[in-house]
Amino acid sequence: MKDITQLCLDRVLYSDNSDFHILWQRVHREKNKDSINTKSRVLNKKYREKLKYEILSYYSNGIPNCGCCGESEYEFLTIDHINGKKSMNHDNSMAGYKLLIWIKKHNFPKGFRILCWNCNGVLGKRNNVNKICPHKTEQSDWEGEL
Ligand SMILES: [Zn+2]
Ligand SMILES: [Zn+2]
Repeated sequence: MKDITQLCLDRVLYSDNSDFHILWQRVHREKNKDSINTKSRVLNKKYREKLKYEILSYYSNGIPNCGCCGESEYEFLTIDHINGKKSMNHDNSMAGYKLLIWIKKHNFPKGFRILCWNCNGVLGKRNNVNKICPHKTEQSDWEGEL
């Protein structure tokens, strides 16, 4: 606890109108929050895995696989906003677990697809104006698919 106290003292010394007690509580709460998060992180790991599988298989209509090339290596698969994050009012932080939770909470809305990292990377490139993956260059109408 020495570090927290020292931190508070430093803050008190270097700021004009801080209340030591309030400051200490704030720092203490932050510390606590961290340890709670660590615990729940471990506990939630299984739930997260389950949720990811549920969502990936939902948008793959069965066994999770890339909607473009069919890659089924689970670790390579990602959830893609078909029309970009902006179309759903999602900012860049809407990814990973946060996105999984969002999808579940909104009852698996349309507008997502499962892609592998390769296809996702190519389709997300700014200079890929037609949003076509090299896997699909033969099919000009791919954009409307799904
Ligand atoms: Zn792919
Ligand atoms: Zn592809």
